[in-house]
Amino acid sequence: MTIQAIHLRDYIRDVPDFPKPGIVFKDITPLLADGNAFAESVSQLSCHMPNDVDIIVGIESRGFLFGAALAQQLNMGFVPVRKPGKLPADVHHIEYELEYGFDRLEIHRDALKEGTRVVIVDDLLATGGTAAATIKLVEQLGADVVACLFVIELNFLNGRKKLQDVETHSLLAYD
Ligand code: AMP
Repeated sequence: MTIQAIHLRDYIRDVPDFPKPGIVFKDITPLLADGNAFAESVSQLSCHMPNDVDIIVGIESRGFLFGAALAQQLNMGFVPVRKPGKLPADVHHIEYELEYGFDRLEIHRDALKEGTRVVIVDDLLATGGTAAATIKLVEQLGADVVACLFVIELNFLNGRKKLQDVETHSLLAYD
């Protein structure tokens, strides 16, 4: 039996002009649809986990897929950061600037305790605005962000610069 290496890049589909003209959307659904590739991506993310992490925070919505799978693999808890109006209990929120206008992210106020060591997971790092806002949101609850993990990073958008001094890893970089 031959064991074939899995190249995660082969499972990312470029969709031009989605959701608007000029954007090349990195579609992760082929990766999710392949059991071995999905498992490989979660396994590779787990290799970048620092020590003594208490909980994984995933960013809506594709960050839930990888974040929750990673948490399950490591037997850790998972906390969702969601778009406005989705979380049922008392929320803490942050507003952050987009190219045009503002967006808002929310987390349950009681989801993280002072000093909790958090790893943030999302599918893709683009400009870094979403991840930077999530770092602030988590820190405002008194928790510590020890790392940010992404499956994909768009190098040309320099998102890392916005992530302050937080350790950041991505599995696939695109120039
Ligand atoms: P940003 O805040 O610019 O780093 O954008 C990151 C968020 O937007 C992530 O949650 C991604 O899922 C999504 N995103 C941004 N650009 C793309 C892209 N080209 N393909 C797929 N998702 C994207």
